[in-house]
Amino acid sequence: MQGWASKSRRFWVHCASFVNRHLKHYLSSSGFPIASMTQASLKITEIFYSLQGEARTVGLPTVFVRLTGCPLRCGYCDSEYAFYGGERLSLDEILARVARYHPRHVCVTGGEPMAQRECVTLLKMLCDAGYGVSLETSGAMPLEDVDPRVSKVMDLKTPGSGEVGRNRWENIPLLGEQDQVKFVICNREDYEWARFKLDEYELASRAGEVLFSPSHGQVKPVELAEWILADNLPVRFQLQLHKLLWNDEPGH
Ligand code: SF4
Repeated sequence: MQGWASKSRRFWVHCASFVNRHLKHYLSSSGFPIASMTQASLKITEIFYSLQGEARTVGLPTVFVRLTGCPLRCGYCDSEYAFYGGERLSLDEILARVARYHPRHVCVTGGEPMAQRECVTLLKMLCDAGYGVSLETSGAMPLEDVDPRVSKVMDLKTPGSGEVGRNRWENIPLLGEQDQVKFVICNREDYEWARFKLDEYELASRAGEVLFSPSHGQVKPVELAEWILADNLPVRFQLQLHKLLWNDEPGH
């Protein structure tokens, strides 16, 4: 009788292991976040503590998690060093490194963070850990699966960026009060284009904030400020604080 019980136990253990293995494979190939089931990981360029340089939380001490890689090539990109390389870290390790700074705010950025599938899982884990979480994204990747607690800071790429064709307009209905839309303006044509899109998609009422930034070295900040005032636009003009303070050195 004991022999039968032991065989029966072995049979059920075998069944459980078979189901677990195949379920993981199925969920993984369906794009399901399975961080808790496997040791999910991400390629990371850097994790650092600084002041938020832009958007609604500008000036607040924040931990930045910069993911490696981006499928876009904007002419004004200031984070090309994040295109390649990076260190593969498990999601648990990323959370442990973030926790060392005891932050209130965490910003997941890139590169294009959403180009790595497990980014969605990381965002959820950061929210679950109680941080105020923001996501800086080019707007070229699907955002449906982003945790609703995350504040999305989504670019709309202007013609002057060289990547206007990558805008994923289907993301716009996903924006809410906690989210922000950012235009980096390279010239007057970009400004006119952004003004048109602001109207066309009623962005000021759809998102919590619309941000207009001058592209560094391409349009004078004061010029953009005057255009906004002349048209009385419902947008927030912004300069990148980290560039003023640290001249855009990596790690700030
Ligand atoms: S989307 Fe961002 S990281 Fe990617 S090329 Fe454009 S500016 Fe650089």
